[in-house]
Amino acid sequence: MDYYNTLGIKSSASKDEIKKAYKKLAHKYHPDKNPDDPNAEEKFKEAKEAYEILSGKKADPKQSQSGFQSSGNYSNFNDIFRNRKQVQQIQLNLTLEESVSGITRILNMQQRVPCQKCGGQGFTMTSSGQPSFCNVCDGNAYSLIDSKLEVKVPANVIEGDSIHIEKDNILFQIIIILNDHPEFERNGINLIKTIEVSFIDLMLDSTIEIETIRKVKLNVKLPKCTYTSGSTMRLKGHGLHKGNMHGDLHIIILAKIPSKISSKQEKLLKEYRELK
Ligand SMILES: [Zn+2]
Repeated sequence: MDYYNTLGIKSSASKDEIKKAYKKLAHKYHPDKNPDDPNAEEKFKEAKEAYEILSGKKADPKQSQSGFQSSGNYSNFNDIFRNRKQVQQIQLNLTLEESVSGITRILNMQQRVPCQKCGGQGFTMTSSGQPSFCNVCDGNAYSLIDSKLEVKVPANVIEGDSIHIEKDNILFQIIIILNDHPEFERNGINLIKTIEVSFIDLMLDSTIEIETIRKVKLNVKLPKCTYTSGSTMRLKGHGLHKGNMHGDLHIIILAKIPSKISSKQEKLLKEYRELK
């Protein structure tokens, strides 16, 4: 229900205008004045409710269902972490190879510990009993100490994955970031690799070797006159893996033209050109 509409006023109406509009409607639809009109009684109730809510005398039931509840959940969620555990987020950059095979990394980092001087309060009491910012932690309540964290990254993690490690009552949330790779471009869990193939090999039956991100060497057959420069080929399942989903490796083929040719090669190519 639109309460402003019920009272016949604009949403910019002042408290006085709200009150005035309500009085007018209450007067018009008061049950005592309309004893045999159930419609009037209904209108009277609606106007009363609208007035009570808009004037702040009563909580809006629509608000308490959406706004209040969700913010309640949100603070509960935060409390779980804030009260029980401190959470520290760390980004971990990996090469594609490391993300595929898994790796153990020792991270050098600075860990927050409660300041010893102020006992994690952020302030100390002066001799006159006044609180003053702690001069060791500068009011932050914690100090930073050098620390090491061993992170075991399982095989087949992808960008945005996170690993949770608990240490000294701190929950470390390690977020995986994948570095750009010189050969493999990422597109979700698919990989794209560009290779150059001699134009002669594209014109004749040939086999090329393609190394995947998992260091698997694949012998791929190129049937004669099938691929042109810019053609793509899909190697199923040779991309990144995420659970049961296996991305593909897309190969973009570029025809390679030699920068120079011998006189014999040139002679043969000229002969070839003359052939119809
Ligand atoms: Zn301190």
